Amino acid sequence: METESRNRMAFLDDELKTLKDEGRLIKLRILEGSQRPVSIIDGKKVVNLTSNNYLGLTTHPKLLSAAKKAIDDYGVGTAAVRTIIGTMDIHQELERRIARFKGTESAIVFQSGFATNVAVCQSLMTHSEDLLISDQLNHASIIDGGRLSKAVRKIYAHKDMKDLESILNSLEARRARRKMIVTDGVFSMDGDIAPLPAIQDLADQYDAFVMVDDAHASGVMGKNGAGTPSHFGLTDRVQIQIGTLSKAIAAIGGYVASSEALREYMVSTARPFLFSSSHPPSVSATCIAALEVLETEPQWVEKLWKNAAFFKEGLKKAGFDTGASETPITPVMVGDTKKATEFSNRLFEEGVFALAINFPTVARGKERLRTIVSAGHTQADLDFALEKFAKVGKALGLI
Ligand SMILES: *Cc1c(COP(=O)(O)O)cnc(C)c1O
Repeated sequence: METESRNRMAFLDDELKTLKDEGRLIKLRILEGSQRPVSIIDGKKVVNLTSNNYLGLTTHPKLLSAAKKAIDDYGVGTAAVRTIIGTMDIHQELERRIARFKGTESAIVFQSGFATNVAVCQSLMTHSEDLLISDQLNHASIIDGGRLSKAVRKIYAHKDMKDLESILNSLEARRARRKMIVTDGVFSMDGDIAPLPAIQDLADQYDAFVMVDDAHASGVMGKNGAGTPSHFGLTDRVQIQIGTLSKAIAAIGGYVASSEALREYMVSTARPFLFSSSHPPSVSATCIAALEVLETEPQWVEKLWKNAAFFKEGLKKAGFDTGASETPITPVMVGDTKKATEFSNRLFEEGVFALAINFPTVARGKERLRTIVSAGHTQADLDFALEKFAKVGKALGLI
């Protein structure tokens, strides 16, 4: 009986074999201790170029003590969804602080950036006469949000404003009930920046609204790290700003910064808000402390960009192709799955962790290592990493 019931899931063996054969079976790397610019990963001390800990806030003393204090003051969890009894004053305080940080009227927090994107697409695009227009390289959570929506979905070629305009100018778009253009602010695999002014101009011209996902721009670009609308001077025009609390902010969560009307609408309609419980209060406290650090300690954003410029320049000088990167996300293009994986493995042995990114996360032929420096990296860390990149890159015939 037991064997028989197990056999009914024997297909998993085939699925796992396929994943393995295609090089897509993921083995988890284990971090010992905290997430730091130099970390212990799988028992080895490595310069960590893989996390989204842009500002090094995962171990900032102000965030640590805020989280600890919140546990004493509020307990460890809420045991409820926001709409029942899972909204504490500290959740509301965080939302007020995010709105101030982003320069918007209002903000609403979700459990993750992923949940936020799903929630917005699903709540706003509710009809087959709605049109969701998305950049080809947008994040998976936007794609899944689109799938859960009722809208017709159109994809424009990456950052291609002619293609975007031809979609907006189509008969279907002109007949649509609502049109939402969605773009990442900073694209997560290439580190290039969305042409937000042109997107917003087209949106205005064709009566569409814009949702920008600043997961990789919040805490990184704009005033005090307020994101791409701030960077481009578009804060008052971009209708919907998405951000994550899981990357530079170093905790967990996502948010929509927008009008009070949108907040009110999301409270009553967003399924992840209605049917999934709220953050532990320590998470809200951590995020509030992080926003305070952004406002009062501008040195971290400055250091991040300084480190990123130095590292990118070093890679280029060594002869590597860093693709279209304009931000701290810096790909090192390889163009072959096996080579990218070997590059990453050899670097790891040498004490540098940079993740190989292969198909289907990026297109075939665009295989790469993806690096993100942190404000917490020292000059010595970066020199060490560059030296190892050059050494392994030469050994593999990449430079
Ligand atoms: C990481 C990321 C998300 C998901 O954010 P989480 O808070 O980790 O769920 C959403 N959008 C983009 C563009 C991202 O890079």
